[in-house]
Amino acid sequence: MTDTSADLVILGGGSGGYAAAFRAAELGLSVTLIEKDKLGGTCLHRGCIPTKALLHAAEVADETRDAEAVGVKAAFEGIDIAGVNKYKDGIVARLYKGLQGLAKAHKVNLVEGSGTFVGGTTVEVDGTRYTGKNVILATGSYSRTLPGLELGGRIIASEQALSLDYVPKKVVVLGGGVIGVEFASVWASFGVDVTIVEALPRLVPNEDEFASKQLERAFRRRKIAFKTGVKFTGAKQDDNGVSVSLESGETIEADLLLVAVGRGPNSAGHGYEEAGVKIDRGFVLTDERLRTNLPNVYAVGDIVPGLQLAHRGFQQGIFVAEEIAGQNPRVIDESGIPRVTYSHPEVASVGLTESQAKDKYGSDVTTFTYDLGGNGKSQILKTSGGVKLVKAPDGPVVGVHMVGDRVGELIGEAQLIYSWEAFPEDVAPLIHAHPTQTEALGEAFLALAGKPLHVHS
Ligand SMILES: Cc1cc2nc3c(=O)[nH]c(=O)nc-3n(C[C@H](O)[C@H](O)[C@H](O)COP(=O)(O)OP(=O)(O)OC[C@H]3O[C@@H](n4cnc5c(N)ncnc54)[C@H](O)[C@@H]3O)c2cc1C
Repeated sequence: MTDTSADLVILGGGSGGYAAAFRAAELGLSVTLIEKDKLGGTCLHRGCIPTKALLHAAEVADETRDAEAVGVKAAFEGIDIAGVNKYKDGIVARLYKGLQGLAKAHKVNLVEGSGTFVGGTTVEVDGTRYTGKNVILATGSYSRTLPGLELGGRIIASEQALSLDYVPKKVVVLGGGVIGVEFASVWASFGVDVTIVEALPRLVPNEDEFASKQLERAFRRRKIAFKTGVKFTGAKQDDNGVSVSLESGETIEADLLLVAVGRGPNSAGHGYEEAGVKIDRGFVLTDERLRTNLPNVYAVGDIVPGLQLAHRGFQQGIFVAEEIAGQNPRVIDESGIPRVTYSHPEVASVGLTESQAKDKYGSDVTTFTYDLGGNGKSQILKTSGGVKLVKAPDGPVVGVHMVGDRVGELIGEAQLIYSWEAFPEDVAPLIHAHPTQTEALGEAFLALAGKPLHVHS
């Protein structure tokens, strides 16, 4: 017999939904998790994991091409896309199996099917009603497009880009945000002629200007073309290619147009609005404790306004599970969520940009930028970039911004420093192993504390 009542019913088994399910189960709650597709959602099957596998294959291609620069003889013969896809899909499949095992171990009642929130604390799936003491809405997001620009054929979104069975010759990427920049980076490493079109004045426009400048410089060196501050006006496709028109009057011909203009909240068609859930531009509105306007109905992940990142979904899921279990967890600081763009080079940041800090604290905000040129390990890796710290007047470090290969791995330390509201003097005495890229962070803190070591003035 179907068990239709539970302490917690969750609609959507992506990062937010399954994290809530596992944490609630750990806390002794009975959980029903409803998923219409695959447990793991966008991040595991169509997002974080497969894109990072492609980026790793891209890195290997670049390293092979550049092997001679470090005295290694190797010949780059090309990309075997079937082999790349096998590698990528193998990783996803293994993680998916692991996740299914975890759901089983947590005794989560996994219901396969499309759910509709029917009000109260009830979700209906194929005529069966599942009622919880609490409900979490976690239906995630979808690839957005622009008005009049229909996806299909040669006009693709990230989902199709991840499953291409050929390497295109020429691609236009519409959108210079995280997803656009990551695919541009992969394709350039695979030998594709790439042009990014971004309406805002710079690539990764949500990052500190320092990061955009560094990334743009690196992309120029990599011969990745980009047109910023330029509006797209239309695209036409036929059997031979796609023709992309810009407001400037220019037309770019390509094999494919990747539309990477952001992700919309997947909140329509699941009964939310009909049941009275407060929605704004498609996003489910919550308070800081992730409560919607309806009693005992919470929302987590990409459908809640804010950063659309998997680890934010995880943390929100854990938060709500603990909240329901009466643990009174600490409210999540949205600025403390680390952000990484995994392109070559990487961009990683946490906290406020310089301009956000100035808006908040006034013009006495101080910054220090350490050039990776002074960091031994970065020189060994042949990467350039830098670390920029943003400090509140007479206060702690409120922003850390990094550009360079592998700097994503440094974000853990940066995030702790930000979240602990550390002053440069607190961090300066901490020892960083030599030679590592973490030393770049250490050097920046030493300099900001007034005792620079390897800094050229
Ligand atoms: C190309 C790409 C790369 C990305 N890379 C990164 C990265 O490197 N790092 C990072 O942190 N984030 C990354 N993201 C973002 C990340 O994938 C999302 O932030 C995360 O998946 C959001 O989790 P979620 O639980 O809100 O939604 P989702 O993961 O989208 O999960 C929602 C789930 O709900 C299910 N669902 C929807 N409606 C119903 C219904 N009515 N009934 C039943 N089930 C339903 C869906 O099938 C889906 O499984 C990337 C995204 C993309 C597209």
